[in-house]
Amino acid sequence: MKKVVVVGAGPAGIFASYFASKSGADVILIEKNSMIGKKLRITGKGRCNICNASDIESIIKNIYKNGNFMYSSIYSFSNEDVMNVLKEHGLEIKVERGNRVFPKSDKAIDVVKTLDRMLNKEGVKVYLNTSVKKIVLDENTNSACGIITENGKHIAADSVIIATGGVSYPLTGSTGDGYKFAKQCGHTVSKLKASLVGIEVDKKIPGELVGLNLRNISINLYKNNKKIYEDFGELEFRNYGIDGPVIKSASCYIDDEKNDKCSISLDLKPALSHEKLDMRIQRDFAKNMNKTFEKSLGELLPKKIIDFVIEISGIDKNKLVHQITKVERKNLVDLLKNINFDVVKLRPIEEAIVTSGGIVVKEINPSTMESKFINGLYFSGEVIDVDAFTGGYNLQVAFSTGYLAGINASSEK
Ligand SMILES: Cc1cc2nc3c(=O)[nH]c(=O)nc-3n(C[C@H](O)[C@H](O)[C@H](O)COP(=O)(O)OP(=O)(O)OC[C@H]3O[C@@H](n4cnc5c(N)ncnc54)[C@H](O)[C@@H]3O)c2cc1C
Repeated sequence: MKKVVVVGAGPAGIFASYFASKSGADVILIEKNSMIGKKLRITGKGRCNICNASDIESIIKNIYKNGNFMYSSIYSFSNEDVMNVLKEHGLEIKVERGNRVFPKSDKAIDVVKTLDRMLNKEGVKVYLNTSVKKIVLDENTNSACGIITENGKHIAADSVIIATGGVSYPLTGSTGDGYKFAKQCGHTVSKLKASLVGIEVDKKIPGELVGLNLRNISINLYKNNKKIYEDFGELEFRNYGIDGPVIKSASCYIDDEKNDKCSISLDLKPALSHEKLDMRIQRDFAKNMNKTFEKSLGELLPKKIIDFVIEISGIDKNKLVHQITKVERKNLVDLLKNINFDVVKLRPIEEAIVTSGGIVVKEINPSTMESKFINGLYFSGEVIDVDAFTGGYNLQVAFSTGYLAGINASSEK
């Protein structure tokens, strides 16, 4: 019987362990936290967006970095497979807007409990509160043959799977250890950067705007004056700048260590053309002829954003509506369709939903997840240089690569 050691009990390591054990291996899963799936518990705002029920091609499209590397693993273990295995182990699931799959209970902890049942059923030995310090290599056979824990304990293995995650949200245990292990084994780690993260902007966000959520807005991202990305959906104002799903997605295209000039243009009324918005404002102004500019915007905009819009419009808030000139009105239309925020920088990587960058994919066999340099060494999950948008795609990457690593690490070659 093959002995497999898996390092890291996040979704990738748990799936790797489950499938390695199911394929007949003797599996030890080592986790430095006192619990499994610590990050998983906070995913999807505590609801866990498990995967996405779209077709496989659109899943791959949403894996914006190294999606091609994922073909083999996602076709081997698809979103349907993820849902089926979780259902088999008692998790009820539902599909929401955007084909996002969640547990029916809306509780991420129920996903963790299901994974725990899976590990128990297959008899995986889980060592909690145990931190791996080093991967042991057999130089004669050029293979991984075990690990050493921080307390100096040596655990021998025929295969080792590294599933230690990235460096985001380090309090959940992902502190980048896997990158060190990979480098120690001769692998290259590409530049790490924050992805799916909030953005600090040039404009000061006034207190009343902080926390305001705008649905149904659209954004354009410009890099050196060239439009490179657009999105439609939800945005949230924060004291440092802007956040929310559309901003998180845009952040994937920004590298603030490069000297690119990036800006985000916000369209507050994407459903209305300039002409239609102008007509709408004229109607509102006609209704409020003798009111002040400030008092005329209540039906058009959320209350909390009115002062901010007035401030950048340059129109006196106390000006009576009938005194507003045509040019001022046209400028207001332009502004509502294009509020510009210059990007100052991304929020720190520790706050990012995912770490972009990782072990370079050309050094890993995409059909097995095995290292191309060291026999019996496998990788799965966020530690690999693969990144996806929000929508359940990052967990899909963890589950699919975990599956492949698990079944291949346990197979007799
Ligand atoms: C706030 C937040 C919300 C998110 N929401 C979603 C979502 O809804 N849907 C989605 O698809 N993705 C979501 N993600 C992303 C998703 O959580 C990650 O992509 C996923 O957890 C990566 O899985 P992993 O198993 O590779 O790594 P992790 O989940 O980070 O697990 C790695 C594990 O390895 C352990 N470890 C590390 N080093 C060692 C060591 N030396 N010895 C022993 N153990 C070690 C860690 O303690 C950790 O438990 C979210 C991320 C965050 C931060």
